[in-house]
Amino acid sequence: MRFSILASGSTGNSIYIENDTGAYLVDAGFTAKRIEAQLAKIGRSMKNVNAIFVTHEHSDHIKGVGVLARKHGIPVYANEKTWQAMDNLVGDVALDQKHHFDMETVKSFGSLSVESFAVSHDAVDPMFYVFHEADRKLAIITDTGYVSDRMKGIIRSADSFVFESNHDVGMLQMGRYPWNVKRRILSDVGHVSNEDAAVAMSDVISQKETQIYLSHLSRDNNMKDLARMSVEQTLQTCGITVGEFVHLHDTDAENPTGLITV
Ligand SMILES: [Zn+2]
Ligand SMILES: [Zn+2]
Repeated sequence: MRFSILASGSTGNSIYIENDTGAYLVDAGFTAKRIEAQLAKIGRSMKNVNAIFVTHEHSDHIKGVGVLARKHGIPVYANEKTWQAMDNLVGDVALDQKHHFDMETVKSFGSLSVESFAVSHDAVDPMFYVFHEADRKLAIITDTGYVSDRMKGIIRSADSFVFESNHDVGMLQMGRYPWNVKRRILSDVGHVSNEDAAVAMSDVISQKETQIYLSHLSRDNNMKDLARMSVEQTLQTCGITVGEFVHLHDTDAENPTGLITV
């Protein structure tokens, strides 16, 4: 299986995943036009996309869902509460395109197994996904205030992680956000900081080649270099040296990553 993070950050998120039998998006959090443009940059198009898996109803994850579904007739999967919450945000989607993906279940799409799991975030019923094909595993986890043991159990030993590294706590605390917004981000239903993400990573990484894509960086409260340095240092204190078998990668709010083989 292969994937590309089409864009990631507080301004919009979408991840493209493909294997030899199909192609999928996790979230479509910017305009349909831009998603099509990002796909073109990696030599792909919406024509081949078989389904969109939605994580939660925040606009940075669903902005393009309605238009893409209508324009390309693509099935959309979300859990029932998320459907209720996003129904009027995405506009009319034909009934036969609306599919339920229940929390903590596994669905098969050809040779790909997709597993949903709960995260802790201030949406109605937020969940993320792990993709399995043969013995390869891709885990996607952003938009969570903390990483519980249960979440760790589900994402453990992935070959590739798309892992939230949202903010630097110092930048957030010193920054211009109002106090209630700061409190929300730092809470158990907000987003994980660089350090907290790294501590969680140290618990779920196995002794094998592992690629980690630092994702959902805050535009105002983080920087790529700072995120990478903080995660690297924290991993080091947890006994993991980046560059040995663990590799850290940036993601971008504007440009897609290349197609990455898991
Ligand atoms: Zn988000
Ligand atoms: Zn969110």
